[in-house]
Amino acid sequence: ASIFKDVTQGLPIEVFSVNKQYLDDPASTKVNLTIGAYRTNDGKPWVLPVVRKTEKSLAEDDTLNHEYLPVLGLEEFTSAATKMLLGGDSKPLLKGMTFGIQSLSGTGALRIGAAFLKTHLNRNVVYISNPSWENHQMLFRHTGFEKIESYRYWDEKNKSIDFEGLRSDLENAPENAVIVLHACAHNPTGCDPTQEQWIEISNIVKKKKLFPFFDCAYQGFASGNLGKDSWAVRYFANEGHELFCAQSFAKNFGLYNERVGNLTVVVNDKEKIKAVQSQFQLIVRGMYSNPPCHGARIVSAVLNNEGCFEEWQSAITEMSGRIIKMRKGLRERLEAKTKPGAWKHVTDQIGMFSYTGLNVEQIEILKKKYNIYMLSSGRINICGLNTNNLDYVANAIADVVG
Ligand code: PLP
Repeated sequence: ASIFKDVTQGLPIEVFSVNKQYLDDPASTKVNLTIGAYRTNDGKPWVLPVVRKTEKSLAEDDTLNHEYLPVLGLEEFTSAATKMLLGGDSKPLLKGMTFGIQSLSGTGALRIGAAFLKTHLNRNVVYISNPSWENHQMLFRHTGFEKIESYRYWDEKNKSIDFEGLRSDLENAPENAVIVLHACAHNPTGCDPTQEQWIEISNIVKKKKLFPFFDCAYQGFASGNLGKDSWAVRYFANEGHELFCAQSFAKNFGLYNERVGNLTVVVNDKEKIKAVQSQFQLIVRGMYSNPPCHGARIVSAVLNNEGCFEEWQSAITEMSGRIIKMRKGLRERLEAKTKPGAWKHVTDQIGMFSYTGLNVEQIEILKKKYNIYMLSSGRINICGLNTNNLDYVANAIADVVG
């Protein structure tokens, strides 16, 4: 008998299992709209030219070694990441009330931030949008949060944000609750609040003494403009909120497997920063000791060099531009083949994902009959579309919606 005898089979992680079904499908014509990674118009992963160039120069630099990084990471990376998020003119940044902690990509930043909130600020209740990136729930549960609540977000009928529902749920949240906010390009809906709506959210968060924990996985990747994509975080910080923001460099640098992230922290009392940092140090030390270096070196080299920074800017413009083009192409084709006006949400939504509104039966037919794979929620990764498969996908969707 094994001591593991009572371990039951865990539920599969949908995004990975549907992706595997796609990979195992022998059909010659098939389309993968599942996993959240960028693809070129040829359907290939893309190593950004500036990333490749930087990697080559790092490989040739004999002064670099593989010593451990400090527990909180590479300083030139975390300060550049924090500045990129908040902007050089950020009030708390200029007052020295911010710092960054290098993390295991966006997920790791969320995880250490959640651990700090639970252990040092005694937070036990978290509000997550419904729907949200499916990992948010599990992450806070594993951190030991006692109550994982949701706030309304998606208006099924209008295929847009349910702002009334969101407002009312936040108004009714208990004081001190943590509220997870997607900084931009909401996953999975692709619907972001307007600036006026963000201002309202900020007022409620202030009034109700909620703790804003931003998740910024797509800065620059959504609109192509860094300031626009982090407008909400910048606004909250300038409004005097103390906050956390988990930053991922997976999508905007194409560094998915390097696990490059940063947790930006805003503390309104400069005197407390050292203490907060010391507790984060102990959290990281007990969790994974210290972060990996390669990806952080790349991002740091790019963000801290004007020429490289410009090259990177043109890469994010290219990626966000291709996505926007595919949204337009899909909408035009669907509107030509089905009900006009019914697909406006495809272009209203922003970022990598579109919440199509397709139902489970339709999704099943798309898989069985057309070998087109997407999540059961109807979320598609727009990056899976390209000029070679756009007609095929649009025809198939038009067929299943009748
Ligand atoms: N948060 C959101 C909303 C995401 O969509 C993702 C990735 O898909 C992440 C966080 C974390 O990604 P990573 O840990 O790869 O940076």
